[in-house]
Amino acid sequence: MMIHLHKNDLPGNISLGPSVAVDTETMGLHPGRDRLCLVQLYGGAGDAHLVQFEPGRYDAPRLKALLTDLQVTKLFHFARFDLAAIMAYLGIMPGPVYCTKIASKLSRTFTDRHGLKDLTRDLLGVEISKQQQNSDWGAADLTPEQKDYAASDVLHLHALKEKLDALLAREGRLELAEACFNFLPVRAALDLAGWAETDIFEH
Ligand code: MN
Repeated sequence: MMIHLHKNDLPGNISLGPSVAVDTETMGLHPGRDRLCLVQLYGGAGDAHLVQFEPGRYDAPRLKALLTDLQVTKLFHFARFDLAAIMAYLGIMPGPVYCTKIASKLSRTFTDRHGLKDLTRDLLGVEISKQQQNSDWGAADLTPEQKDYAASDVLHLHALKEKLDALLAREGRLELAEACFNFLPVRAALDLAGWAETDIFEH
């Protein structure tokens, strides 16, 4: 597996298949304040692709076409955040969406540990490092450690989906999960529209 870094958009000759793992790195946790720096992509085999954005350069027509391609399922871990960041900067809402964190919460009710690091360790026996999580993703030149970390966040999502789908099926929650995935773009839009801290279904 190699890691390819692209500036501002994907090149034209890339095909990642019907199921693409996606993650983002940003300047922080507030989409209205903290710009989108990187989008990571992995098709489940072959190489990982990182698209790095210079400030204000969010045209990216090829990346946007992939993220909105209805024939391509986008796999995220905690899609809610990535969808909001992508909507805020690229101006499109990705779909269809699968989220390993929601799948874990719906199927692994015996634990409250649903972080990506927890899932890769518990379901795949793989230890991933979160050391670079809080590094400066706005840097013009990313370090090799940052690139490795960024790629590691998308490399295991296909394997996790397979494990989690089996658990969802076993517990009879595939349909509920699908309904939650379909709602995620709405949840992200609510976050951006000012309801980030509010559960509108609450009394
Ligand atoms: Mn990440």
